[in-house]
Amino acid sequence: MNIILFGPPGVGKGTQADNMVKNFNLHKISTGDMLRDEIKKNTDLSKKIKSKIDQGLLVSDEIISDLIVKILSKKKYLNRLIFDGYPRNLDQAKSLDLLVKKYNQKISCVLNLIIDKETIIKRILGRLVCTKCDLTFNKYFNPPQKEKYDCNLKHLKIRSDDNENTIKNRIEVYTKKTLPILDYYADQRILYKIDGTRKINKVYKEICDIIASLGT
Ligand code: ADP
Repeated sequence: MNIILFGPPGVGKGTQADNMVKNFNLHKISTGDMLRDEIKKNTDLSKKIKSKIDQGLLVSDEIISDLIVKILSKKKYLNRLIFDGYPRNLDQAKSLDLLVKKYNQKISCVLNLIIDKETIIKRILGRLVCTKCDLTFNKYFNPPQKEKYDCNLKHLKIRSDDNENTIKNRIEVYTKKTLPILDYYADQRILYKIDGTRKINKVYKEICDIIASLGT
């Protein structure tokens, strides 16, 4: 099954996706991680991407579409994808529908993680990301522990876009461009609401229950 994890920055999509990858035979597609990998290559494209990310704006649909096609066209990921941070506007959602059809796949569910703005800001300001393995932790709510984290602590960094100025833009972009996609998925009857303010394991349990109820 292919699953879309939906919700504002900082709600915990990446953390839940990492749990799902571990326990189900799924592969995580985080467009944010893919873009950050592209930035590390230090090309002309990297500069364009970094500038958008650091302003809290969306990267162009063309760039995103190229990244997604590379993954969706790979047979080894057939119907095994968790989309984290994609789609982020209605055009991306429609383009994804065309692509999944083209590659004989389908979206089984959209899990909408809901959270209030104050909690988002606290979570984002505490976020630590491993520059080696991309796992995400939080200084306050989910500190790195030996049993969950194999890399050296020195690889844990604060993302360049995780600061108060950028967060404001990211929340605004989410509200204006990303949230409207929900109606599109509600019409397809594949949308599930989840309270994202609760503890990581409670949210995860609900995600597992929804996946089990889909029965595929
Ligand atoms: P978060 O969801 O916490 O904002 P992400 O890592 O998903 O973090 O995204 C970081 C940034 O990468 C976004 O603010 C945006 O600039 C860019 N980005 C990620 N995914 C997309 C996408 N699907 N379309 C356009 N831009 C994206």
